[in-house]
Amino acid sequence: MARYKKKSGSLGAVALIVLAAMVLSSVIGVALGNSETGKTPSGTPANTVEPSGTPSGNTVEPGGNEPGGSDPQNGGEQTDKPSSPKETALSRQDFTIDPATGLAKEIKVVDDNYMLLVNRTHPLAQMYKPDDMVTVKYTVSGVGVKGETDQLRKVAAEAFESMVEAAAAQEINIKMRTGYRSYEYQRDRLYNPEVKNKGEAEANKSTAKPGQSEHQTGLALDVGGESQKYALSYEFGETKEGKWVAEHCHEFGFIIRYVDGTKKEPGKLTGYVFEPWHIRYIGVEAATEMHQHGGSLTYEEYLGILD
Ligand SMILES: [Zn+2]
Repeated sequence: MARYKKKSGSLGAVALIVLAAMVLSSVIGVALGNSETGKTPSGTPANTVEPSGTPSGNTVEPGGNEPGGSDPQNGGEQTDKPSSPKETALSRQDFTIDPATGLAKEIKVVDDNYMLLVNRTHPLAQMYKPDDMVTVKYTVSGVGVKGETDQLRKVAAEAFESMVEAAAAQEINIKMRTGYRSYEYQRDRLYNPEVKNKGEAEANKSTAKPGQSEHQTGLALDVGGESQKYALSYEFGETKEGKWVAEHCHEFGFIIRYVDGTKKEPGKLTGYVFEPWHIRYIGVEAATEMHQHGGSLTYEEYLGILD
């Protein structure tokens, strides 16, 4: 899509764009914060960019500040949506620039940014780590790393726990297998071993490169159901637990993130084949809106960010 061009210009031009985008997103961030909370921006500032720092070397996406326009390939579907989800989905990081190096020394999660898009073309930086994570109550023991992959950002953890309890009331038992995965976990425990086993080309088909997994957001998790002993399974979608999750997860703010496996070109839009177990928190309003489109709309299509 032409609207979201990849960075291919000179470094100087990119640096200028990034700087302008950061200033703009700062303004937009404060404005959004006011309208949503009704509070004055006297608390924590939305952005902590030091004016003297140079932004060169940062990997922030400058998108999301461009004026809206019709995208013929979306068939006009996006025109009746507000532009804010796209802006929210792409303006995701706060920077503190180290004046000595000119590089970002700290990246904080924007507190209310639960719609951020992370995929193969929109990765997270290595230092991106949510600062509001809590341990989830209902997890499968012996999976992942205790104190890390059993965690989610608070809003997602609470939503998931509510979902588990609502399911249990209908005699549907589900648990989280893994939630948060750090950049280092993705690199050392998942991606590098896959490359070693299968080679890079094969590994890339099923495994995210470090930074490309939305598990790093702390808003995504894998679910298992009792009837399959809480294992990770492509058949999860056919079980009573998988069907319940597909039908009800939006009520708690979740979507099944990788849904295009049933289309002609599996994984073309999301970068992954159908994963009935992987759910992602985006908030009740957006998740419900997506649910109303049926089960095949991808998050990329919903946001209109297809590059
Ligand atoms: Zn997953």
